Amino acid sequence: TDLAHIRNFSIVAHIDHGKSTLADRLIQETGTVKDRDMKEQLLDSMDIERERGITIKANTVRIDYTADNGEQYVLNLIDTPGHVDFAYEVSRSMRAVEGSLLVVDSTQGVEAQTLANVYQAIEADHDIVPVLNKIDLPASDCDRVAEQIEDVIGIDASEAIQVSAKTGQGIHETLESIITHLPAPQGNLDAPLKAMLVDSWYDAYLGVIVLVRIMDGTLKKGMRVKFMSNNTLHHVDRVGVFRPEMEMVDSLGPGEIGFLTASIKQVRDTRVGDTITNDRNGTEVALDGFKPAQPVVFCGLFPVDSSEFEDLRDAIDKLALNDASFSFEMETSAALGFGFRCGFLGLLHLEVIRDRIEREYDIELITTAPSVIYHVYMKDGEMIELHNPADMPDPSKVDHIEEPRIKATILVPDEYLGDVLKLCQDRRGIQQDLTYAGSRAMVVYDLPLNEIVFDFYDRLKSVTKGYASFDYQMTGYTEDALVKMSVLVNDEPVDALSTMVHRDRAEMRGRAMCEKLKDLIPRHMFKIPIQAAIGGKVIARETLSALRKDVTAKCYGGDATRKRKLLDKQKAGKKKMRQFGKVDIPQEAFISALKMD
Ligand code: GDP
Ligand code: MG
Repeated sequence: TDLAHIRNFSIVAHIDHGKSTLADRLIQETGTVKDRDMKEQLLDSMDIERERGITIKANTVRIDYTADNGEQYVLNLIDTPGHVDFAYEVSRSMRAVEGSLLVVDSTQGVEAQTLANVYQAIEADHDIVPVLNKIDLPASDCDRVAEQIEDVIGIDASEAIQVSAKTGQGIHETLESIITHLPAPQGNLDAPLKAMLVDSWYDAYLGVIVLVRIMDGTLKKGMRVKFMSNNTLHHVDRVGVFRPEMEMVDSLGPGEIGFLTASIKQVRDTRVGDTITNDRNGTEVALDGFKPAQPVVFCGLFPVDSSEFEDLRDAIDKLALNDASFSFEMETSAALGFGFRCGFLGLLHLEVIRDRIEREYDIELITTAPSVIYHVYMKDGEMIELHNPADMPDPSKVDHIEEPRIKATILVPDEYLGDVLKLCQDRRGIQQDLTYAGSRAMVVYDLPLNEIVFDFYDRLKSVTKGYASFDYQMTGYTEDALVKMSVLVNDEPVDALSTMVHRDRAEMRGRAMCEKLKDLIPRHMFKIPIQAAIGGKVIARETLSALRKDVTAKCYGGDATRKRKLLDKQKAGKKKMRQFGKVDIPQEAFISALKMD
């Protein structure tokens, strides 16, 4: 296809504003997928994504469109993830296209992720077409939302397209606007091959599939290419496009988006942002690389049943093949035995991986408290990156500790503003900015990441009845008074429950944690002390009293089925517990004990 007849674009939106539904309609309207093959959320392929309604991997589809001017166009759509954990996926796919549809729910307005994503589009020099979605709903208010887009984002929304991705209204106008308002890509067919490695994932049949955007030259089946970051050579055995299923083609030219396979075994051998060129006489200048995504949240994953350790290793190996941003190493815990210390991009990423291990590999897991990476400066000048509070060095040898901080942007209707400010304040936040757009407030806070990773998002949703939106970016490390808090159950330290806390909050957190554990740990035949301690000093204590009666005692001996049911229940509950010394601690305790409310 000649460049003038190609349009490459992505769709940016806040979660639930209708990005996937709009993509479905564009695919359907152009006949890319026959009606009978059409299913909802066509681009959201993974099960978990479907269930939670989120897109994790960037997805691509090539659409043929005959415009009102009678000419044939090729549209390449990259659907990007909407969740903050996956912001790096957004930035990489932005670089592969020239324009964006900015989808805003016209019943809601601009949200935090709308802003975060659209700023990425602006940074990538995109032309932007605003789309006001959900106009079929009575609460839709296009004028207000268009004004808000101009006020808050500062782009012209006078020609915003009014769309219902549900009924199909405005879809034709959207396609025409893509042709007339978004630029055609540029590139040189006669230059050596220069292609951007946009994304890659593992396929059981084809090996690693590499998503590419061709900048210059031609990518052909059968040719040898060089990955410039590590100078490796590969024989290209397939070239194709997504419609959205894979369709093989002979070659891809400038401006086109598609994939290649080259018998690559591991996703780790492909670097996102890399430049692909000819093996000989290739391009001299590589594209600016992307920063690889760095894990920021760490936690331990242990099998509930220790005989499943090898199965867990297998599952983690397989998942890592397809997810270069997920890191892991073996870990032994006095309390939990063998497991893995894993690094994630954020909490959602953690949950997704944990769910997949439990569901797809059928392994029950104990997840330990998530932690961020602390920089521990020793008196002898050494700096240790602390991924696990259990590894905290002897405090007498520590000079100071630094923790990662973020800049958080929160948009919220003003009636909830007070609660949001209080929440941020409680989490050691420092307010940086507060502005209004209509009846919505936009607050910017500087916050410690460790106060966010656990349950900040849940708390924010609950104090604002779901009306707040939130986005953040890492800003750097600063020193603070941080200490390791240990938890002792029946006088035994449970390393999996140790956390790093701010000295001023330690007592409050310790007390809350002991109270929680007291509720979560079932009573035993003996009294169990539960303590929180810093160094050797106990800062909080609860006592779980001894169990007197047998669980079945209240059945009066009569109803045998009820008795059996109770015993079964008890057994099932047992399975999910781990023994610490003489005490059984249920799995959920490891996460729940840390929630602060
Ligand atoms: P995404 O998170 O941005 O991909 O949003 P989805 O496409 O998954 O849509 C979120 C929800 O809004 C789903 O329940 C959709 O069915 C619904 N939705 C999307 N577009 C429209 C629309 O135009 N009208 C109405 N009434 N609902 C819509
Ligand atoms: Mg979606």
